[in-house]
Amino acid sequence: MRCMFCKKEIFEKNDLLGKPISLPSQGIAHSRCAEEDLIEKRIFGSIHITEIALEDLYELRELVKTEINERVKRNNEQANQSL
Ligand SMILES: [Zn+2]
Repeated sequence: MRCMFCKKEIFEKNDLLGKPISLPSQGIAHSRCAEEDLIEKRIFGSIHITEIALEDLYELRELVKTEINERVKRNNEQANQSL
């Protein structure tokens, strides 16, 4: 069986391209190849980043930044409490 992205044999002895994974209704691929494909297409979960309007993208960036900051803060607080 061949990888749907790089067309190389999937069950090679070396797994430099990652373990074989099956993509529902698409085919079989190396996990690394599938990951690179997602990055290239800029898909996160079911979100197609390239299809988001720029204003929404700015908003999303702020939301993500806020969420990360909040979580880091929370983690630090928890770490301090357990000391
Ligand atoms: Zn591949």
